[in-house]
Amino acid sequence: MNRQVISGIFESRFDQNPEVIVVAPGRINIIGEHTDYNNGFVLPAAIEQAVWVAVSRNNGNEHHFYAAEYNSDFKTDKLLPVTDADHRWANYPMGALSELLVEGCETGGLNIAIGGNVPLGAGLSSSAALISAVIVAVDDLFRAGLSRPDMARIAQRAENNFVGMQCGIMDMFASLMGKQNHVLRLDCRNLEYSYSPFPDNEYRLLLLDSGVKHQLVDSEYNTRRKECEAGVQILRKSHPEVNSLRDATPEMVLEHAGKMSDKVFRRCLFVTEENNRVNAVCDALESGNMNLVGELMYQSHAGLRNLYEVCVEETNFLTDSMRGLACGARQMGGGFGGCTINLLKKSVPDKAVERVAAAYFERFGTKLRTLPVKISDGAHIL
Ligand code: ADP
Ligand code: MG
Repeated sequence: MNRQVISGIFESRFDQNPEVIVVAPGRINIIGEHTDYNNGFVLPAAIEQAVWVAVSRNNGNEHHFYAAEYNSDFKTDKLLPVTDADHRWANYPMGALSELLVEGCETGGLNIAIGGNVPLGAGLSSSAALISAVIVAVDDLFRAGLSRPDMARIAQRAENNFVGMQCGIMDMFASLMGKQNHVLRLDCRNLEYSYSPFPDNEYRLLLLDSGVKHQLVDSEYNTRRKECEAGVQILRKSHPEVNSLRDATPEMVLEHAGKMSDKVFRRCLFVTEENNRVNAVCDALESGNMNLVGELMYQSHAGLRNLYEVCVEETNFLTDSMRGLACGARQMGGGFGGCTINLLKKSVPDKAVERVAAAYFERFGTKLRTLPVKISDGAHIL
C-alpha cells in the first residue's frame, strides 16, 4: 500500500479526492502478557505493517465505507452495530465515529476507504489500527485537538462498546504512540509511558504464525480475568492496599499460597512475575544486555505455559525449537495459538529458521508462516 494506491481506491469509489490519508500501524508486544487488565505493565511496539484510511466529507448525512481487503461497501446514516458477517468490518470505523460523537465531535457524512497490510486476526491488532486510523483522520479534519492518549481511550471504548470486544488499551496506545526503533513501556494503571531503544542494527524480530486459532480464547480469557480478581480479593484481606495484581508482588502471592486454590495461586504468581519481567526487560534494553532480554522472553513463555496455562502444543513446539537459534522466544497475545515472537541476532541465517519450519510441518502438517517485523512510528497523517 502507498499514497497513490489508497488515493486511487478512494477516487474510483467516491469520485472525489481524499481530504486526509492516515497510516496506523499494527503492533507487537515484546513482553507483558495478560498484565494489561491487571493494571500492570506492557511493552508493545508499532510495526511497519499498517492500516491505511483515506477520508473526505461528503456533505450528506450518510457514511459510506469501502474495505479494499474485502471489496465490500457499507452505507449507513445510523451508527448501529451490524451483525451480518459480510459487513462486520464496518463496526470498527462506525465504532470510532460513534465514540467520537460521544466526545462531541460531530462529523456529518464521511466517505472512508480502507486498505492495508496488517494480517487480519493474526494478533497484530489490525482492529486497533483501523479504529485508530479513523480517529486520527477525523481529529485532523475537524481540528478536534485530541491528544494521542485521549484518542487511545476513545479507540478502546469503540472496540469495547461497539464491537463488543473487551480488550485493554495496549493495542490502540501502541498504534497511536509507537516510535521507530523503540519499544513503548506502558503502565496500564495510569497510562504513564516511556520509550526504550531497540538495537535494530544487530537484532531483528520475527513472528512465527502457528496457524492455530482456538474458539477457547474468549471464554478462557474471561475465566483468567475472574481468577485474577479472586486472587486480589484474597490478598486484600492482609494487604488492603492491593486493588489489582499490579499492587501485589510474587512474594505476597507465595505468602498466600495456602489460602488460594492452586489455579488462582498460579495465575497470580504469573501476573506479578510478568510485571517484574517487563521492567527487567526495559533495564536490560537500556544497558544493551540483549541476552537477558531474550532470557526473560523465554521465562515469560514458561509462565504462560505452566502457570497461566494459555499455551498450545504448537506454540510450545515453536518456542522450544528456537532455543538454540533465538535469544528469546515466546507466545504473543491472548493465547491458545497465534504467533510467537522471536528475538534474533541478525547474523542468524534464514536457512536455520527454514529448518524449524520444516520440522513444524513434519509434526503438525501446517505450513509455518514467518512474518519479519520492523519497529516503526505510530499513526501519522500523510
Ligand atoms: P486482530 O486485531 O488481531 O487483527 P481482530 O479479530 O481483533 O484481529 O480484528 C480483525 C478484524 O478487524 C477483521 O476481521 C476486520 O473486521 C477488521 N479489519 C482489520 N483491518 C481491516 C481492513 N484493512 N479492512 C477491513 N476490515 C479490517
Ligand atoms: Mg484485535
